[in-house]
Amino acid sequence: MAQPGNSPVLRPELGPLIADIQSRGLRIERVGETTRVGGAGPSDAGMISIDGVFITAPVGADFVADSPYFLREDSFGELAVFKGDERMAPAEIADRPKFYELSTADGIPYWKIALLHLDSLASTVVQTCAYWDTDDQCKFCGIELSLESGNTIPAKRPEHLAEVAVAAKELDGAVDITLTTGSTYGPDRGALYLGRCAQAMHDASGLPVEAQFEPPDDLDVINQVHDMGISAVGIHVESFDPVTLADIAPPKARTGIEGYFGAWERAVEVFGEGQVSTYVILGMGEDPDLTVEGCKRAIDMGVYPFIVPLRPVPGSLLENLLPPDADYTESIYRRVVPYLVERGIGSWTVSAGCARCQACSGMSLFEQEYIELAPASDNRTRIPVRSVS
Ligand code: SF4
Repeated sequence: MAQPGNSPVLRPELGPLIADIQSRGLRIERVGETTRVGGAGPSDAGMISIDGVFITAPVGADFVADSPYFLREDSFGELAVFKGDERMAPAEIADRPKFYELSTADGIPYWKIALLHLDSLASTVVQTCAYWDTDDQCKFCGIELSLESGNTIPAKRPEHLAEVAVAAKELDGAVDITLTTGSTYGPDRGALYLGRCAQAMHDASGLPVEAQFEPPDDLDVINQVHDMGISAVGIHVESFDPVTLADIAPPKARTGIEGYFGAWERAVEVFGEGQVSTYVILGMGEDPDLTVEGCKRAIDMGVYPFIVPLRPVPGSLLENLLPPDADYTESIYRRVVPYLVERGIGSWTVSAGCARCQACSGMSLFEQEYIELAPASDNRTRIPVRSVS
């Protein structure tokens, strides 16, 4: 099959189609090797290519049973996405990565140490969180669910991660590494152990690494992480609406939205504009105007707001919520993306991680619609602008 990686797309209807599939889910007959359950990131994710664009979409949650989208073979025996009886687009499923067949010398399967998310090698280096099973647990999160399922181990060792990174690059063409961690009560919030893991992987494989962690008490930790050879950081506020944040992620609310802006300011100083990102999850009751305003303020300082629709993780505290309508998600994309592109920031400026991969969001497809707004020096392929309103 084609190599993962979101290349320029000329079909303007593809962005709204993918936004709708990511909202309503994709019904497939076999939920298995192309999916994952639990985790701190895009969990319950089917990983597929739709018309050459690699995405993740919900496949296992209960609400997916009501989705009009199916993945099945067409009359030529080719895999395609259908809406009811209408064939919408050709599709491909990623092969099982070859490195999943390997194990460490002490018998840990490589797939329990890191997973290939399309073309990005991803791992949660510490699969426990200080807030889990307390009143502080983030309601959207599924970090310990994968641990309970036996699909991973509690903590990964730097030397194991390094050998997996080399194998994923050589056998399966991984192009970067995305590392996250559960939070700790320590002043660094787990960032320094994450940095040691990232350094070992980068030194062994040469791949760029994005490290994701909570704002540390001492912002100098961000400089230390940078000095470990990390290319990009994700410091995730999740919502710019303080009321929503207090409801869905109490520890993040205690850090406060201003606390995130402070951490981003330091991170942009050391990593550079476009190398710092934050998840912004839609569909948790947030005020859309506050959301757009927060995204624009982040963009002004050089932060990429990686906007994704809520993907309720089965087993998480939000498992009974539905993802937001695609129309709502698209309306936020269309208010934020032109501002982002005009500022010269886009998925193409991010060297590693979720905002580089883009498979969990429709943002990069909308970036392509507005690319004429970008400064001329960004070396991007120009395609026609459909609308900037
Ligand atoms: S801080 Fe919140 S989102 Fe992060 S791992 Fe802990 S519970 Fe999950």
